[in-house]
Amino acid sequence: MQAPQTIMDIFKLLNKTNCRKCNEKTCLAFAAAVFQGRRSLEECPELPRDIVRSFRKPSPPPLIEEINNAPIDALKKRLSEIDLREAAARIGAKYESGRLIIRIFGKEFGFDATGAITTDIHVNHWVLIPVLTHILEGKGVPPAGRWVPFRELEGGMAWLGLYEQQGEKVLRKVADTYPDLFRDMIEMFNGKRVENLYEADISLVLNPLPLFPILVCYWMPEEGMASSLTLFFDKGADQNLDIQAIYSLVAGIAHMFEKLAARHGFS
Ligand code: SF4
Repeated sequence: MQAPQTIMDIFKLLNKTNCRKCNEKTCLAFAAAVFQGRRSLEECPELPRDIVRSFRKPSPPPLIEEINNAPIDALKKRLSEIDLREAAARIGAKYESGRLIIRIFGKEFGFDATGAITTDIHVNHWVLIPVLTHILEGKGVPPAGRWVPFRELEGGMAWLGLYEQQGEKVLRKVADTYPDLFRDMIEMFNGKRVENLYEADISLVLNPLPLFPILVCYWMPEEGMASSLTLFFDKGADQNLDIQAIYSLVAGIAHMFEKLAARHGFS
């Protein structure tokens, strides 16, 4: 069953008696806490267990440090079983001399049927997994031109806690401490400054994959308020990558920049 997408979706599941057994003052407050990832549905003892089970989160993926070659090898094996020419046409990539050529962060990567990769830049496994998933399963849906946060993508609520912890929070910390983050995003990863959106101090668009832009918005700290960083995705992003692959992509990007900052002495 699709995870609830809004506070009201969650509120509708509750019995609305405001019994306070969950230690929230009202059912609406509980729904908001679930939406924000601070509480989970199981903590309402009044909610039938079959409903709780139907919205249970998928098992979490391995942490960034734990990932190994196994999922990459499995995806490369699947790559050997598909028609790369058809895949290139489907996802807006090129096909040349038996290789699918795709632009990742604006730079060309070639994949042949054995899964061998030709590239000028290094990307970590957390980025490689969504790239391979995109080649295998992406529908090639063009951007709809409307930005939405991660939680509004299909399945986003179920992955929100991990996504924030491994993705946005890591990037925000890097942005707070490493002064060249946004310059690197533009110069090394082909990012483009855009008119500041949502009253952010900095807004730029990254293109980790064709047809898959990500809008980065950063609000600087001010007057005792902490900084904030939010990524926005195209409304149709979940047609080109499933939610787990989007999570993996963002975690991969965040940890690439975290390493880059550490290499320059900012960590
Ligand atoms: S325990 Fe459930 S029914 Fe009671 S207030 Fe909390 S959310 Fe509402």
